[in-house]
Amino acid sequence: MNKPLFNLRSWVEIDLNKLINNYSIYRSHLPDNAQIMAVVKANAYGHGDIMVARALQNLGVSLFAVSNIDEAVGLREAGISGEILILGYTPVSLISQLRKYDITQTIISNEYALEFLKSKTDVKCQLAINTGMNRIGLSMKDINECESLIRHYTQHLNVNGVFTHLSSADCLDTQSILFTNKQISLFEQLVQRLSDLNLSYIHCMNSAGGIAFPNKAFGIVRTGIALFGLNPSLSFKLYQGIKPILRWKSIVSDITLIEPGEAVGYGRSYIATKKTRVATITTGYADGYSRLLSNRGFVFINGYKAPIIGKICMDQMMVDTTDIPIVKVNDEVELIGDYYSAEDMAQSIGTISYEVLCNISKRVVRIYK
Ligand SMILES: *Cc1c(COP(=O)(O)O)cnc(C)c1O
Repeated sequence: MNKPLFNLRSWVEIDLNKLINNYSIYRSHLPDNAQIMAVVKANAYGHGDIMVARALQNLGVSLFAVSNIDEAVGLREAGISGEILILGYTPVSLISQLRKYDITQTIISNEYALEFLKSKTDVKCQLAINTGMNRIGLSMKDINECESLIRHYTQHLNVNGVFTHLSSADCLDTQSILFTNKQISLFEQLVQRLSDLNLSYIHCMNSAGGIAFPNKAFGIVRTGIALFGLNPSLSFKLYQGIKPILRWKSIVSDITLIEPGEAVGYGRSYIATKKTRVATITTGYADGYSRLLSNRGFVFINGYKAPIIGKICMDQMMVDTTDIPIVKVNDEVELIGDYYSAEDMAQSIGTISYEVLCNISKRVVRIYK
């Protein structure tokens, strides 16, 4: 047998052509002069930030957003040359690193701005504005005060942009739409007052906002989930043709025949009611496969559905393959793909696809095609 090219146990296949296609479709619906800021935080939602950012850079994307300085430095060292914006907190003691790698830092609060001022740094920064999410940002409760603070900071810091974040752009009920419009209009008022500052980067949209309000994007949309082909929420509608770019696969390592009354797995949480053909799969919760899917989730083997039986173990899980015509050791298993999507999996355990993808752990090999 040929030596496998990678550890054939638990792996994801990522289709960069689909990424490019998703990007093109999303981009085609935005105004001509608008740019996409690719949000590649958390290892590009588990897809591999370097490979994703490189593919997008080849298409001309020059704006990237990450969550922290380690992610930013990793991209820079991998040859990502455009703007890299850290959306969250960086200890001010790391300012020299920000400067060395030409990374743009978000000013997340007034307290944080004061620390930056004290350091007399010329590191590029953007001001987060709190328009209602109440996570980070300068308060807009008093727009005059907000404006004067921004003017003060732009005089003394190297500020090249302002942005806000929409909390409910993916919700399309009347109340949410009203709230999103309120956030956008607050931000618009502020941006209008600051027009003489000629800030280069003004943005407020995530994937959902860019679809629901494409003409309010101020020329930049921070796009994350849509690039990876998933819906911001189940009630939302993505553009036709946008498709998931990731499949998660594993292998059948063993097959065990059991009799009615026999149990499967830790704590004997599953008791067979019939003669059952149990297949063991080489993926477990240490791979990021949620243990909440015990006795609840599904995998697909040769296109047939196999329910998970028993508790998911750290590195393995068991499924019922009694109704599948043929199953052999070394058969490929699809954990996430056409038959059972990240969204289906998320719904089974009461979370969102974002979390399912981000949880796929480091030891799961990423394969690109
Ligand atoms: C994560 C994030 C985004 C991207 O959101 P998606 O829903 O994945 O498009 C945009 N802006 C900020 C501030 C974020 O934290």
